[in-house]
Amino acid sequence: MSTNSLTYTADRADQLARGYQRVVERIRAAEQDTSGARSAQSETVQLVTVTKFFPASDVMALYDAGVRLFGENRDQEAAPKAALVSESVPFHDPARWAFIGQLQTNKAKSVVRYAQQVQSVDRPSLADALAKAYARQVERFETEQAPAPAAYKAGKLECLIQVSLAQGQATAGHASTGARGGADPEQVLALAEHIENYEQLHCAGVMAVAPLGSEPDMVFEKLWNISQILRESFPQATQISAGMSGDLEAAIRWGSTCVRVGSDIMGPRPSA
Ligand SMILES: *Cc1c(COP(=O)(O)O)cnc(C)c1O
Repeated sequence: MSTNSLTYTADRADQLARGYQRVVERIRAAEQDTSGARSAQSETVQLVTVTKFFPASDVMALYDAGVRLFGENRDQEAAPKAALVSESVPFHDPARWAFIGQLQTNKAKSVVRYAQQVQSVDRPSLADALAKAYARQVERFETEQAPAPAAYKAGKLECLIQVSLAQGQATAGHASTGARGGADPEQVLALAEHIENYEQLHCAGVMAVAPLGSEPDMVFEKLWNISQILRESFPQATQISAGMSGDLEAAIRWGSTCVRVGSDIMGPRPSA
């Protein structure tokens, strides 16, 4: 299957739609569990369909089945995919993209073009780069007829602070946490303040990936507690992005408002 084609087979579309539906049913069932932080008043959980490693034609098939919210973790892959999809869907009903991966500051310029939300802000320098890139894209839109940044209608780029929940971690910052990244829990408040100081950015909450081999309920309860502390100072920062194919039930039990699911919808990742 060519990545510059948006054509998909009926079989693949059916497989994707069924995978998506299955995950929605898991989420709806998990929302009933109030043994952790959830209550009857908790909001419904959003589903970000993670399409990394899969072609734009799969995104198109899901879009045609009604899915609008997608996630990607590498700009090199996401930028062309998002561009292809946006060329073939109605302007008034775009696919929306959440960026969920480790991000180098020099990619900020590209990411603000297609991402409505960056869930993986883990350091002040990345917030600096995103604010600058967003402002520059707005300026180019207004003066050079360049496309508006994806978050233009919302007025700000939504940021989640990615928190590292690795156990026994050194205090040396995100360099100590390996490839999965994230800010140390004690850096969250300062980073939220740094983000909110930019008129281009809004800190909407926290995000985390459970470390390999960790106990999901312990990890997600810890994230819930961090989120509660953040909300005392930033009441608007209500989002918790947690839970993937293997651990979404535990994440939802501990107050996740957004799960990011790839393989259970898309199927096993194609080998490179
Ligand atoms: C790939 C990825 C996911 C989805 O993982 P699955 O196990 O395939 O559901 C979620 N979050 C992040 C940050 C990812 O990189």
